[in-house]
Amino acid sequence: MSLSEFELIDRFFAACGPRRADVVLGIGDDAALLRVPAGHELVVTLDALVEGVHFPRGTEPAAIGHKALAVNLSDLAAMGADPAWVTLALCLPTADAAFVQGLVAGFSALAERWGVQLVGGDTVRGPLMLALQAHGLVPEGAALRRRGACPGDLVYVSGTLGDAGGGLQLFGHADPDPAARYLVQRLERPEPRLALGRALRGIASAAIDLSDGLVSDLGHILAASGVGAVLEVARLPLSAPLVGRFGRDAARHLALANGDDYELCFTVPPAAAGRVADAARAGGCPVTCVGRIEAEPGLRLRSDDGGPYPLAGGGFDHFRRT
Ligand code: ADP
Ligand code: MG
Repeated sequence: MSLSEFELIDRFFAACGPRRADVVLGIGDDAALLRVPAGHELVVTLDALVEGVHFPRGTEPAAIGHKALAVNLSDLAAMGADPAWVTLALCLPTADAAFVQGLVAGFSALAERWGVQLVGGDTVRGPLMLALQAHGLVPEGAALRRRGACPGDLVYVSGTLGDAGGGLQLFGHADPDPAARYLVQRLERPEPRLALGRALRGIASAAIDLSDGLVSDLGHILAASGVGAVLEVARLPLSAPLVGRFGRDAARHLALANGDDYELCFTVPPAAAGRVADAARAGGCPVTCVGRIEAEPGLRLRSDDGGPYPLAGGGFDHFRRT
């Protein structure tokens, strides 16, 4: 069934996600009114998802709704922020009620889990695209940044890496193998590491979420901090399904070069390293030390035998200094 713009808003968006006490005025006026608590900074991020670019054609609507919110919440996680409000610009080819219902279901389930309220947006016709702006709160001065890593700091990542890259290769084949299903699920339903990001306040010296791949994203921390790093490739956390389906070498390559995992990468001064295990427990996910920050700029990948790790493909020379 096809609905008008206002029917869509009333039916699906007006009551989407939990009600928060700090929302003075939500959907239904020309703009929302939101109360930022004293002593906090407002953390704002926006990510757009375009069909065929950020999710493959044929992705089910609930997965699109989940992912659009998850990637934005992941940015808040990387800042150590608590999520609060979100606005949504939705561009639809047709006002297909079943599609929007699925989209909102995937979105709402994640929004409910993290207490995020949808407070406004825009609905227009065009190629399928979602742009979300997420708003979070962090105590003044406590946000995690890309800048701040110092020589000697340890480099950690959360969860396992490369799964989403493996899932993308397996997507669309209706493969009943549980390993394939797990990897596609990791692609479609990333879990924002919000509890970990929050627990890393006062511990991590720098942080970023892994949207473009470890080599590229750690490169942003290094550039912003004016430092370099050594990465021990043998320490990369890889899931059993990924290694089982692709083999260890390909899994390592996916972990280094493929994006969409939405895990956190962060650095910790040696003096605070003893507190990382507690943060991981609070964050509800494993974290693994994969390297160390050095003064010399550039990212050096080290193999099991201590020599330079040959990263296949020419796309990453930019980051390689060995
Ligand atoms: P205006 O023309 O004043 O911008 P709209 O008619 O576009 O307002 O929207 C009416 C209300 O519905 C506003 O509160 C707006 O924020 C909200 N809204 C519209 N589209 C969405 C959407 N996709 N998600 C959430 N809220 C939306
Ligand atoms: Mg208006």
